[in-house]
Amino acid sequence: KKPLYYRDTWIEVDLDAIATNVRSLLSLYKQQSRPVKVMAVVKANGYGHGAFAVAKTALEAGATHVAVALLDEALSLREQGIEAPIFVMGKIRAEDVCIAREHRIAVTVCEREWLREAEQYMDGEDPVEPLRMHVKVDTGMGRLGVRTSQEMIAIMEDIQHAEGMMLEGVFTHFATADEQDTRYFQLQMQRFRTFLAQMQKAGLSVPYVHCGNSAAALRFPDDMFSMVRFGIAMYGLVPSPEMKDELPFQLNPALSLKAKLSFVKEITAGEAVSYGATYRATEKTIVGTVPIGYGDGWLRNNSVDGSYVLVDGKEAPFLGRICMDQCMVSLPYRMSVGTEVTLIGGSKEAYISMDEVAKRLGTINYEVPCLLGARIPRIYL
Ligand code: PLP
Repeated sequence: KKPLYYRDTWIEVDLDAIATNVRSLLSLYKQQSRPVKVMAVVKANGYGHGAFAVAKTALEAGATHVAVALLDEALSLREQGIEAPIFVMGKIRAEDVCIAREHRIAVTVCEREWLREAEQYMDGEDPVEPLRMHVKVDTGMGRLGVRTSQEMIAIMEDIQHAEGMMLEGVFTHFATADEQDTRYFQLQMQRFRTFLAQMQKAGLSVPYVHCGNSAAALRFPDDMFSMVRFGIAMYGLVPSPEMKDELPFQLNPALSLKAKLSFVKEITAGEAVSYGATYRATEKTIVGTVPIGYGDGWLRNNSVDGSYVLVDGKEAPFLGRICMDQCMVSLPYRMSVGTEVTLIGGSKEAYISMDEVAKRLGTINYEVPCLLGARIPRIYL
């Protein structure tokens, strides 16, 4: 049988871990009298895990909606057969609204001007189903969204009067929901509640009110209105190190990054490894070559002092610079070509977490799986 790929580097995605994370969140909300729906956030190819597989898994585990950043991402999920409601959280071009409507993709509205323009593109269309719209309010993220309740109400009324459009939601996004200091979060929450009160005062209501990302969804379940947008924690990653001691349930990381040694040799004192010949052996050293590099999103900074991969549960530190397609490590003993290498995840008792890799790179855990390139096959467990 023909193999699906021909390289010895792969990403393992544990879909059960994703399903468990979704179910745990749902059971947290089951305790509430007003159940909260879960929208699975699978933008950027499911944070690098694979959008389709993650969406399918999350929906089977009880999520009801899927969220992406781009219309292209939504269309790709539809093409692959995702039938559930899909919501585009970013701003699409007004001229593309008919494509969204045709494929039953809900969109974000964040200004009245855009809505007017979108309406013109809808003219003359024969709507089978109305275009579902969620109005975004900016309560302090400073990215997208209306900034006054007057504009929000005007938009909502416009949508209600427009043919072929339907007001489905109102939402906002938090800037600091993952931080210990909750003052800015509370301020955004209070502003959102004011927007909602103004909406009610104007006699308007919407099916879905949502504000929570993972951090808010986990920390403030009582404040989550009718839906949460569950991203990073669905993948089993903690939204920020500040939160790791106050999780309401255990999160199960889904992604492991693995490879197999492609070449093994012994070098003697004085011999160099990799570009710039920056590494010089001071004694006999067994060098293993690992077929992954910055061309796969395994960035050069991964080899900062002392960082390592795991081979047979043991630490194998990087030697010299990471190349585009390969990197070298110091092996604890002579191992054979084909021995499994773990760059992220567990090997016997040892474990390299996404957070640890993020720390090496001076970044956040979100960025690490997003960087892992399309060149690395994703294997679903
Ligand atoms: N909602 C919006 C608007 C987002 O942009 C994102 C992702 O950044 C999310 C929700 C999900 O956030 P998280 O991954 O922190 O759960």
